[in-house]
Amino acid sequence: MPTITVAGSSYDCTDEETVLDALSRHGVKVPNSCRKGACHSCMMRVMDGPVPAKAQAGLKENFVHEGYFLACQCQPDGDLTLASPNGAAAFQQATVVFAEPLADTVQRVILRPETALRYRAGQFVNLRRPDGLIRSYSLASLPDSVPEFEIHVKRLEGGAVSNWICDTLKPGSNVEIGAPMGTCFYLPARDPQNMLLIGTGTGLAPLFGIARDALLSGHQGDIHFYHGSRTREGLYFHHSLRDMHAAHGNFHYHPCVSGQDVPDDCIAGRADDIALQDSGDLAGWRVFLCGLPDMVHATRKQAYLKGASLADIHADAFELAARDEESATERTAATG
Ligand SMILES: Cc1cc2nc3c(=O)[nH]c(=O)nc-3n(C[C@H](O)[C@H](O)[C@H](O)COP(=O)(O)OP(=O)(O)OC[C@H]3O[C@@H](n4cnc5c(N)ncnc54)[C@H](O)[C@@H]3O)c2cc1C
Repeated sequence: MPTITVAGSSYDCTDEETVLDALSRHGVKVPNSCRKGACHSCMMRVMDGPVPAKAQAGLKENFVHEGYFLACQCQPDGDLTLASPNGAAAFQQATVVFAEPLADTVQRVILRPETALRYRAGQFVNLRRPDGLIRSYSLASLPDSVPEFEIHVKRLEGGAVSNWICDTLKPGSNVEIGAPMGTCFYLPARDPQNMLLIGTGTGLAPLFGIARDALLSGHQGDIHFYHGSRTREGLYFHHSLRDMHAAHGNFHYHPCVSGQDVPDDCIAGRADDIALQDSGDLAGWRVFLCGLPDMVHATRKQAYLKGASLADIHADAFELAARDEESATERTAATG
């Protein structure tokens, strides 16, 4: 049975447990949220001992080199000595400079961090509520000369943090944010590679940044952007994306409405179904998928079966926070 040593104390870890499970069982607080390897909020750093490759999947190269790993994905093969939790995800204060609805249930929030973020369009940040609840939000903005960055938050029924953001954060409010994370971003291509972007709901946010980044970088291949929502109102950047479609010969916007009342300028059906029907062989394409986890996981598989290589499929599934005892307690304390 491996032993995990943190800050001079040692804890046993059963063969079935992850580092996060074991430390939580022993009462060691490690920030966490989705527990599925998506939000990266449980990132820790190994000082000594072997970390399985799975625990570093999806981390930026520099994090891997420095020994960071995801505690929720790490079932240790041997004894580990770890740096104290929190060291990796250093949080800083950010001030809200703009907060307005984009649609009935989507809030646009623009924040100015104390220290400008270094990020790539499409990455996400973890936002920490004062009571410690952490949630991830993707960056819709481009890293340019201004320090402000933008997120789009969908209000979820009963959702602890999304409702707090929509109802409480106003210009002047302060929040804590972590360092930009994730590998769902654009890198300039040598060849004119075609790109397929599929997003549902606020899955638009990272894709909007990625598409603009590609266009600004002079991307030569075709860029097909599918945004899906149940209602036309949910296609909350319809006009901006239509303008991009008109302005760039290689940018193609496909607005998809899966509910009733489909306007003439939208396509009836789910964005993922329509995108996969429209596309032929995806060999050589770059694919970006963001939004509802079921859509992202199923479409990743379909894109692979249609010929896209796994290395060319970039995805952020908007996983919900795990419903574990600790989160439940925090949620009750936070909303009660
Ligand atoms: C990498 C990443 C990027 C993301 N980017 C964005 C983004 O740009 N915009 C955005 O709006 N969201 C994004 N999310 C989702 C976001 O992090 C939050 O999960 C979301 O805002 C809901 O948080 P909440 O606290 O409001 O809801 P919660 O309080 O966590 O729960 C929401 C609702 O779901 C129910 N629920 C809770 N847990 C579960 C579960 N495990 N299974 C089923 N139901 C459950 C709750 O009872 C509640 O009704 C992203 C997530 C990830 C991992």
